[in-house]
Amino acid sequence: MARVYNFSAGPSCLPEDVLKECAAEMMEYGTTGQSVMEMSHRSKAYEPIIQDAEAMIRKLMNVPENYKVLFVQGGGSTQFAMVAQNLGIKNKKAAYIETGVWAKKAAAEAKHLGVAVDVIASSKDKNYSYIPKVEKVEGDYDYVYICFNNTIMGTHFEYIPETGNIPLVADMSSCILSEEIDVSKFGLIFAGAQKNLAPAGVTLVIVREDLIPEPDACLPGTPTMSMYKTHADNDSMYNTPPCYTIYVLGKVLHWIEKNGGAAGINKLNVEKADYLYNFLDSSDFYHATTEVGSRSLMNVPFLTKYSNDLTKAAAKVDEAEQTAEQKAALAKEKEINAKFVKEAEAAGLVNLKGHRLVGGMRASIYNAMTLDGVKALVEFMKKFAENN
Ligand SMILES: *Cc1c(COP(=O)(O)O)cnc(C)c1O
Repeated sequence: MARVYNFSAGPSCLPEDVLKECAAEMMEYGTTGQSVMEMSHRSKAYEPIIQDAEAMIRKLMNVPENYKVLFVQGGGSTQFAMVAQNLGIKNKKAAYIETGVWAKKAAAEAKHLGVAVDVIASSKDKNYSYIPKVEKVEGDYDYVYICFNNTIMGTHFEYIPETGNIPLVADMSSCILSEEIDVSKFGLIFAGAQKNLAPAGVTLVIVREDLIPEPDACLPGTPTMSMYKTHADNDSMYNTPPCYTIYVLGKVLHWIEKNGGAAGINKLNVEKADYLYNFLDSSDFYHATTEVGSRSLMNVPFLTKYSNDLTKAAAKVDEAEQTAEQKAALAKEKEINAKFVKEAEAAGLVNLKGHRLVGGMRASIYNAMTLDGVKALVEFMKKFAENN
């Protein structure tokens, strides 16, 4: 068996210790004579598993008493709708900060459901390579929405917008528990688990109790399963939860605790990210695509010197109108990126292909990626630069 270093943006690598524990308990969990996969979610053996996962979230994130911790399904994408259906109900108006694909999708979903969307700031002017500074938000908004870490663009909020009495909603899918967060500054936080917490299948929602509406106060047509109250009133057991994923989540949370909790993990994350960004910033061959002050610790997109002014200009014109020089530059860029990804894979460094909206490569270095993995990547990058 040879394990690779997996730089996937999601689903992504899990701590090896967790995988080993799951393997050891696969055929029999405790003395139950069965796998967790096979258990009734209402059984005596399973109930402590989900209760422990919730308790660990509360402990590691210091969740205040007046917040509910929910485990729901449907991924981050379903939360785009649920946020609007449950919170966009008074003035049916919300403010969104547009920092890339996921924030845009969330805003589009709110609009689709009849909530008026004000885009109060955007970094579209520079292809979302930075986080716009919004000091203070005022207005008759039902909520203010941000995507705290932009998985595709590789940016991260280094500040929390001041929204006064307006609840702040944050999508933390790709940075949850990568750093210490003051939950009380937010009305609602959600995170699909498959980036930093667990395998795919569960979404964590942390919501202030007073923001959970009664069923008939939700937007008209909201299904029962999309009401936060349904899940809050039933301890996330209204219907069958993704039992096994929640079990793995619990193990990941204990692994985080062993690594010093959010603060300890953050220290490791800063060390890993600094190692990679420092290399990128000092390289003549590679460059990061994001601005200092907005950089993600989790997702690091980068380009090579073959992505340059010529290719940038070429990408903006129709193929039919490109000059021969521009065509050649684009072809070379494409060839080098493909070569990088292919040779990296052969060296045991996988899933480094960049997202098409940014191009180049992207290394996702979530909590479970080791410093050794990042060092192996940088060593490979050095050699690749020498040979190309
Ligand atoms: C991946 C991702 C999503 C979408 O999550 P799904 O669980 O696939 O719906 C939403 N927001 C962010 C920031 C993401 O990284």
